[in-house]
Amino acid sequence: MNKLGNFINGKQVPSHSERSSAVYNPATGQQSLEVSLASADETRDAISAAHKAFLTWSQVTPLRRAHVMFRFKVMLEANFDKLAEAISLEHGKVLSDAKGELTRGIEVVEFACGIPHLLKGEHSQNVGRGVDSFSLMQPLGVCAGISPFNFPVMVPMWMFPIAIACGNTFVMKPSEKDPSVIMMVAELLTQAGLPDGVFNIVNGDKEAVDILLSDARVQAVSFVGSTPIAEYIYATGSKNGKRVQALGGAKNHMVVMPDADTEQVVSALMGAAYGSAGERCMAISVAVCVGDESAEKLISHLKQEIAAMRVGPGTGFKEEPHMGPLVSKEHAQKVRSYIDAGVAQGASLLIDGRDFTVTGNEQGYFVGPTLFDQVKPGMRIYDEEIFGPVLSIVRVGSFEEALNLINAHEYGNGTTIFTTSGEYARAFSDEVQVGMVGINVPIPVPMAFHSFGGWKRSVFGPLNMHGQDGVRFYTRMKTVTARWPKNDISSHSFSMPTMK
Ligand code: NAD
Repeated sequence: MNKLGNFINGKQVPSHSERSSAVYNPATGQQSLEVSLASADETRDAISAAHKAFLTWSQVTPLRRAHVMFRFKVMLEANFDKLAEAISLEHGKVLSDAKGELTRGIEVVEFACGIPHLLKGEHSQNVGRGVDSFSLMQPLGVCAGISPFNFPVMVPMWMFPIAIACGNTFVMKPSEKDPSVIMMVAELLTQAGLPDGVFNIVNGDKEAVDILLSDARVQAVSFVGSTPIAEYIYATGSKNGKRVQALGGAKNHMVVMPDADTEQVVSALMGAAYGSAGERCMAISVAVCVGDESAEKLISHLKQEIAAMRVGPGTGFKEEPHMGPLVSKEHAQKVRSYIDAGVAQGASLLIDGRDFTVTGNEQGYFVGPTLFDQVKPGMRIYDEEIFGPVLSIVRVGSFEEALNLINAHEYGNGTTIFTTSGEYARAFSDEVQVGMVGINVPIPVPMAFHSFGGWKRSVFGPLNMHGQDGVRFYTRMKTVTARWPKNDISSHSFSMPTMK
């Protein structure tokens, strides 16, 4: 069995750790790889490489750093199909979805190509007579990234292209469930001309993460994953004096107003709820129907569409399935136990995906598309993030009730409303307590040049991923106030300086 190690100083290095974890192909249930779980010392080795590389990389001009990003983008495109297949084989998502993930990651690289423009800073002439003020946006040093299993390439690429383009160096800790693709990406960075040590990978778990959170050389930590771990990362990293952005879990609601076009809603909802088997932090897992009539219409259409869904392996198909397996056996079991809990707590199970097998892939981690009606707050399937192909329908009597329901939820990552009323749409985007809002859009994921992040317990820390927030997160601003006096040295002043 191949064993994946780390990537330090521009090359793959075998790990000497005694601990490792199995990586599976979720469509077959077969183990494909063993990944080492880095020791504390190996993690420190990666930090040392990044720390050393920072001395020179931070002095490379932004234009030259952008040139590396341009070449990196070309390499990613040249290897597009290979990378997408690697995502699908370890994560389980279908190939077209893996390609979509990769495209969204490449878009962040494209954004990072504009770094000379993004680092221009501010300049004010004559803030006082003969005095100018300007800002310098300087890199921080070694930055670390910790990512979840569900986007093994896109989420790391929310982080490191911008960090590196800003002049930082980076240590990435990917998910141990699907670690191969980011290793392939690291090789491409080296081929694109990135100097050794600027980008490093430690494959590992809590042991490696705790070193990244405590080593004084690490200046900033970017995290994406579940809320309990995000909270831990934010609290521990902040306590240790680091800048931290930590994105957590989600429960995303779609409000269906009585005036919405049912066919548009159904077409949007099918992909948003069941795409990637619901393993997306922006998946819609709750449809909030305003009025019983809109709920009944929606349910009858959804039943037909779900019956026509193809579920199967993400690669090697004759006709591409709509959705693949879940990432692991344990996760598939957890999703089934949520369905059990929904039934036990009185929700109405309309379509049951628990006993679902795919012929020829009986050992795969498949759970079929599942639909619940009559779901209410207080039920675990409503309150908690399931992260599987389970859609809940909640019925409410009014727009205000729908809004209050969403605002009362612990999470506030994404939400959307389907309506033909501009008045309701405007009130919704204005009043909803959620970070990313859609209007007649199924999954309102901001583009790379905007910033991605939720509200409430979906995020810890003030700055979101990519866009302007990403540049602010990975730079420290210094404001210079300058005067070039001739011979007009004034007398001492002991009062607070004010500009004349
Ligand atoms: P996870 O929290 O289990 O793991 C995320 C990362 O943290 C992994 O690299 C893992 O190795 C590490 N980790 C796990 N336990 C740890 C511990 N005790 N101490 C230190 N590090 C630890 O998340 P996951 O299951 O890989 O991913 C799914 C979750 O990620 C979902 O909750 C999903 O909503 C969330 N997610 C959020 C966003 C967002 O933008 N808000 C995006 C993608 C995924």
